[in-house]
Amino acid sequence: MSSSTDPQAPSSAGMPPLAAKGPPADRKFPCKKCGARLDFDPASRALHCPYCGFLERIEPSSREVQATNWDEYWENHAGQETTIAGRSSQVTCAACGAVVLLEDRVAADRCPYCVAFLENKPEEAQALIPPAGLLPFAIPERQARDAFNDWIARRWFAPNGLYQFANLGQLSGVYVPFWTYDSMTYTHYTGERGDDYTDTETYTETDANGQQVTKTRQVTKTRWTPVSGEVQHFFENVLVYASRSMPEYYVYKLEPWELPRVEEFRPEFLSGFQTERYTVGLRDGFGKAREMMDVQIRRLCEQDIGGNHQRLSAVHTQHVGVTFKHVLLPLWLAAYRYGDQTYRILVNGRTGKVVGSRPYSWIKITLFVLAILAIILAAILVFSQLARSGRAQRSAYPADREAERRAQACALASPWPPGPNNPPASMVP
Ligand SMILES: [Zn+2]
Ligand SMILES: [Zn+2]
Repeated sequence: MSSSTDPQAPSSAGMPPLAAKGPPADRKFPCKKCGARLDFDPASRALHCPYCGFLERIEPSSREVQATNWDEYWENHAGQETTIAGRSSQVTCAACGAVVLLEDRVAADRCPYCVAFLENKPEEAQALIPPAGLLPFAIPERQARDAFNDWIARRWFAPNGLYQFANLGQLSGVYVPFWTYDSMTYTHYTGERGDDYTDTETYTETDANGQQVTKTRQVTKTRWTPVSGEVQHFFENVLVYASRSMPEYYVYKLEPWELPRVEEFRPEFLSGFQTERYTVGLRDGFGKAREMMDVQIRRLCEQDIGGNHQRLSAVHTQHVGVTFKHVLLPLWLAAYRYGDQTYRILVNGRTGKVVGSRPYSWIKITLFVLAILAIILAAILVFSQLARSGRAQRSAYPADREAERRAQACALASPWPPGPNNPPASMVP
């Protein structure tokens, strides 16, 4: 990595050691009344006993979430990884590669991401850079299911099976791993600035008489001048999805997350929820973060260049005082197989925002298209019928009047009934 140590970077002396001694790995959260395992309840933000209803509040922490200095980490702490308390085993999904951290002595039978059966045997949890913070679930399952059902109901052309599935409401609550990076960036660029100007151009044209005429017109041209310069920008909380088990496209659509509200990590918040282990490491994650930052840096360079057009030929960025955090974000997930495809619906466990993929029912789409065609056809028929009868009526009226006029003329010419004083017209000499 191209970052260098910044003497101004905050000292990491006050930071807790990375491999902090947590509670023993088999620690659970027993109910103080009945001894059953307590689960985190998003609605009351407390540990809740599913058997006796006992609630144990989780007090807000006054401690700030600590970011780790990148250089400091690689110099002093790399390799000092640990496991998360209460998650002593892990299982890898053979289908999507997700590594699910299992609660002690709790087995998962299906992968929450792709609903494939977890065929692999659980193994001892691999050490990891422990989460520095998390956003606890704020939306309980019922609310997530409502959001999910609303979403499904608004999908057009979804197969009927999807609605049935929606009614089942099989949602898994998963804490999904992310990296966040902060970085001070200094960029040097070279390129060109394009300024538009108007020029008068002479051209010849053949007129209607076949004569060659010379005319002028205004054209816009660009004058390019070489430029170079420096921009600097502080990036805060650049969020990188640290797994490959879901398409990134969906994951990033779940934003915004309330990242400033990330809390100090405490295993209590995970109780009763699944937790995924990161499979995108710290370095790969930073590579992704850098790509994201580069897009914005190029935009800043272009702004700095000004003019009507900009070209960048070289952009060199130095990252200084990089810090990172491993954070867990809450997601309600519904994955299902329809046909031979896996579809996923993701609900942001903080905001209730829903994103997902869904199957289309080709039968419904075909029926819909046929119905539209039938309506158009019926409309054409009705209109042509109306037009025809309209023409017929318009022609009927004058003809009637003409017949009446003729009959009157006839009656005048031959009064009725015919008699000796009233001979038929034909008999009038
Ligand atoms: Zn209890
Ligand atoms: Zn899977």
